[in-house]
Amino acid sequence: MERSRFLKLLFASPLLFSAMKLRDLETMTNGLTETEKMPVLFLGHGSPMNAIEENEFVAGFRAMGKDIPKPKAILVVSAHWETKGTFVTAMDKPQTIHDFGGFPKALFDFQYPAPGSPTTAAEAKKIITKTTVGLDDKWGLDHGAWSVVTHLYPKADIPVIQLSIDYTQNAQYHYELAKELASLRKKGVLIIGSGNMVHNLGMIAWDKLNADSYGYDWAIEANEKMKKFILSGDHQQLINYRSQGKAWDLAIPSPEHYLPLLYTLALKDEKDSLSIHNGKPVAGSLTMTSVKIG
Ligand code: ZN
Repeated sequence: MERSRFLKLLFASPLLFSAMKLRDLETMTNGLTETEKMPVLFLGHGSPMNAIEENEFVAGFRAMGKDIPKPKAILVVSAHWETKGTFVTAMDKPQTIHDFGGFPKALFDFQYPAPGSPTTAAEAKKIITKTTVGLDDKWGLDHGAWSVVTHLYPKADIPVIQLSIDYTQNAQYHYELAKELASLRKKGVLIIGSGNMVHNLGMIAWDKLNADSYGYDWAIEANEKMKKFILSGDHQQLINYRSQGKAWDLAIPSPEHYLPLLYTLALKDEKDSLSIHNGKPVAGSLTMTSVKIG
């Protein structure tokens, strides 16, 4: 029903109006209706090849997605979209961006034709007060989004939007901005942070690329300590990642793959359960560790 007609009808009927809570009125008239609270995920995406390969990590993504109620929309904070300022994709049909080089043609041919959701983008813009969020019509879905979302929703039938990472801001800022997204969880939006907790491409062990699992000592040390803080809920230690010593400095040479984890953790409330998945290191300097909240 058209909004103005709905409102007219509603106010013409005092009985009906008194039977409704004002909160219901608000949610019914702003495009996104109230739902049960959606979980929040952090997915360690690793190589873009995970989009088209079968391995234990993609099986892990599927397992994490198994009991999630069907979302109305998905919002991804991907390591691969950094901007000055904060933007959300607001187009109807986001393009599949192949933002990498040196991979087989099959990966460049891969398409993830999920629709966008201008309504969810507008809602995200509305609820974020920390900054003025820009509505973007040029980006689309980068591989941080589609290489993992394809395993949760292979039919590409759920609308997906992305929220960019402002590279001028620090970890504390991102954590606080993420908290402002909390109401989306009750509007059927599945929020996914996509990055890697330990991610140092300059130190990849090329001779161990095909090993099931291999991690340098510092990668394992940082990964274990991060998991400990995630499980104990000590988010401030994770926000202060630059004060955690040499292993963390090697694990996080630049923040873009780490910050999506903070977006996910910021959305955890006291009642939420939390589980860790895909905890293995690969190629020496990456970990696929993923987190499910709620
Ligand atoms: Zn990446």
